[in-house]
Amino acid sequence: MAIVEAVESTGERRRMLVRSPASLEPIGEFECRSAAEVSAAVERARRAQQQWARLSFDERAAYLWRLVDQFVRRQDEIIDAVIAETGKARSEAIAMEVYSPCDAIAYYAKHAAEVLSPQKRKMHGVMRLTKTLRIVYQPLGVVGLITPWNGPVVLAAVPLAQALMAGNAVVHKPSEVTPLSALILESMTRDAGFPENLYQVVQGDGQTGAALIESGVDKVSFTGSVATGRRVAEACARRLVPFTLELGGKDAMIVCADADLDRAAAGAVIGSCMNTGHYCCGTERIYVVESVYDAFVANVVEQVKALRQSDHGEFDVGAVFWDRQLDIIESHVADARAKGAVVRAGGRRNPALKGLFFEPTVLTDVDHGMEIMTAETFGPIVAIKKVRDEEEAIRLANESDYGLNGTVWTKDVEKGIAIASRIHTGGVCINDMTITYGIPEAPFGGRKTSGLGQVNGPEGLRGYCHAQPILADKKGTGKIQGGYPYTRKQEDGMQKFIRILWGTRLGRWLS
Ligand code: NAD
Repeated sequence: MAIVEAVESTGERRRMLVRSPASLEPIGEFECRSAAEVSAAVERARRAQQQWARLSFDERAAYLWRLVDQFVRRQDEIIDAVIAETGKARSEAIAMEVYSPCDAIAYYAKHAAEVLSPQKRKMHGVMRLTKTLRIVYQPLGVVGLITPWNGPVVLAAVPLAQALMAGNAVVHKPSEVTPLSALILESMTRDAGFPENLYQVVQGDGQTGAALIESGVDKVSFTGSVATGRRVAEACARRLVPFTLELGGKDAMIVCADADLDRAAAGAVIGSCMNTGHYCCGTERIYVVESVYDAFVANVVEQVKALRQSDHGEFDVGAVFWDRQLDIIESHVADARAKGAVVRAGGRRNPALKGLFFEPTVLTDVDHGMEIMTAETFGPIVAIKKVRDEEEAIRLANESDYGLNGTVWTKDVEKGIAIASRIHTGGVCINDMTITYGIPEAPFGGRKTSGLGQVNGPEGLRGYCHAQPILADKKGTGKIQGGYPYTRKQEDGMQKFIRILWGTRLGRWLS
């Protein structure tokens, strides 16, 4: 049964029905905004942005703090909406969709000023004698924000906070799979007293997202799949609109012989199964050195078998959020089985539950000839491969089209850092699952097909700005150096100067 499907509409807008993936019952309907409506939203945002950009950082931060208040006050409403849309475990809804947004919004409210205030930059060479250089971080204008379904609130709220603190307005196209929680975020900004039209949600599907890119936005912040990311990049390139792409991953976990095995096994289980495995930085493949392989696998299997899966009450692993993702998970597991993988736990849809539930699964005897080790599965699957040593683990970790994140497990943190620095990914965590997205100081972004550009941290904040160099002459009076008329005397003097400046040791030191 489709979680999102078109239904008959009376007006001009296409109408969609949304079901809960846990109960399969309808939970709401929404209408896809037309291209004209998206453009009108961007025009309204543009007007709101002009006023917003005049506010000081403190004034912008005050609005963000009021948004944090809204999160604190309305957390049950957010949690319930996200659970209805996704069927995720309540702990995950609290941690990802309330705690994490609050932490990030508070961070940017506090720290944006130190990153984005105009900065004097020291100059080198002779120009420093007559000029001063300042870098001013200008807002870009209207940001088009396009988000996926696996973290419907956090993946909107975190870029929203950055874009707003940088002085931009935002038009947001949430995923058609989770279109309802975004309306709560929009209503929270209204109740927090945000200027009208500064943040607007335009519900819709891929067509609506494509229309947003064509609507004249000044930057696109996209999070989603590699396939859509390529289309977004092409559309942005045609319009010469700057963009960031946060795309899929196939994160590797490396378990060294000296790892704390209990901790590593627990990390493997939560890293693979958290958010039903719908985590861009989820652990998708695990390489374990042979001396600890058997003990590690036994530990993981025991933990996975103890996981509770349900559609109500207290449980660990929830529903698969989308029927299309369930198809992918099932086909990857079937492909692995057909090619010789051994199912140590789970391995099938949960027959006891009505909704879209795939049992937490452990696969061993996997290899890179299987999709489960090469393509993004995005499901609650722990796939474990035995390796000879750490060198083989590093080689296999890098043998991937993706490069989002990864983890290394060893009691020797320096060794872990050395291994991490040889892995070609956006980031690496040592002795923990990947939590980098939740650390606002850290720039976040994938390599290879996992993305382009970085979000979060000072780098992410500045990505919502144009860094404008302003060069001022200290005196501002008198003759312009090197100006007309050109004379032979001046040319000879210039050549002599070049010889002294870069042709002598003293000159080089001075320059
Ligand atoms: P998706 O690419 O199908 O959709 C993402 C968004 O793009 C949705 O809002 C969708 O409506 C919109 N869209 C679809 N076609 C479009 C087009 N032509 N132009 C503009 N917008 C369009 O991705 P998904 O299935 O919603 O999300 C899952 C993917 O997101 C996974 O691959 C996951 O790894 C990735 N993801 C990455 C990160 C990260 O930070 N790197 C974070 C979360 C999720």
